Amino acid sequence: MALSKKMMDYVCNTAQEAMELLTTLAKIPAPSNHEEKRAEFCRDWFLKAGAKDVYIDDALNVVCKLGECNDEVDVFMAHSDVVFPDLEELPLSVTEERICCPGIGDNTTSIIALLMAARYAISEQLQPRRSGLLIVINSGEEGLGNLKGSRKIMEDYGDRIHHFYTIDGWNGKMINIAVGSRRFRVTIETEGGHSYNAFGNRNAIAYMASMIDALYTIKPPTGTSYNVGVIQGGTSVNTIAQKAEMLYEFRSDRMDAMEQMQAHFDACVSFYRQKGVRIEVEVLGERPCTGDVDAVEQQKMMDKANQAYQDYFGCEAQFGSGSTDCNIPLSRGIPSLCLACYNGEGAHSREEYVLIDSLLPGRKLVMDIMMSYFA
Ligand SMILES: [Zn+2]
Repeated sequence: MALSKKMMDYVCNTAQEAMELLTTLAKIPAPSNHEEKRAEFCRDWFLKAGAKDVYIDDALNVVCKLGECNDEVDVFMAHSDVVFPDLEELPLSVTEERICCPGIGDNTTSIIALLMAARYAISEQLQPRRSGLLIVINSGEEGLGNLKGSRKIMEDYGDRIHHFYTIDGWNGKMINIAVGSRRFRVTIETEGGHSYNAFGNRNAIAYMASMIDALYTIKPPTGTSYNVGVIQGGTSVNTIAQKAEMLYEFRSDRMDAMEQMQAHFDACVSFYRQKGVRIEVEVLGERPCTGDVDAVEQQKMMDKANQAYQDYFGCEAQFGSGSTDCNIPLSRGIPSLCLACYNGEGAHSREEYVLIDSLLPGRKLVMDIMMSYFA
């Protein structure tokens, strides 16, 4: 174990305080794009902890800079937004074994592990191994956020980031490969008309159905999926549909497969455009997949995380692909890992809970990994 006795004592002696911080923060609503309240709470908390350089950026990220940060930096982040639109206090209850609250695990518990580890570094005035360490409580990870917070950090610090961690996993599932996705709204419009008098006019629904059929002719490469999730259109049973709309997405963990899917989609769209119907394509979301990442550095991060997981949770971590804040740095070749720091169930449901006895091991894990980035 890499934690000194002093660090271990700090984690254990602040268990009650961390628990109170968790139950306080978890109740603060934070829908994607409206994380203001949580952001202000976290900024004030950093300042009270003695941090010198803290700011909230345009994307609503709270950034706490440790060290000068004028050259290479390492990044630790945890997202503040939750999938629930609530603007009122989120309902929280505690039993002997569990804390229940929408968003309690994903991602409030991770934020607490990050805040508490950062405070140790602040109060002990630890010197980062590189020019600085960025502690970020970031915005916009969930669906509608479209990784806004992570994109902003990459925009501001991208080329200088050496290692990037986000804490956003549970039950030992760590994510080291980014699944990319692209989401579209496709609208088809035709002249339509009366179903009897104008019979023979083009029907938007018929074109849409045919186009969907064409989209489904592709056999996707491994690790790749696609889906038409919503379809709507038409006016009435005796009207030739003038307009039809669908939501379509594809995903992959490989860049070449993403391009292959894009090419197939583009070909379908242009084929139907050539038939003279009006087709509009709106991009609703875009998450890149893993790019050219240094495999040795990436493996080092995974080995360290796996060792810490074994030390504190007593079993091996599992690594795999997923869509997280790491998508942005991974797409730009920065070694990145999404850490898991608690056990629980029900993420993205109002019945979500975390197991109280997993909180301390999780804090130790985050502390252990973060401390290795200080001199
Ligand atoms: Zn999350």
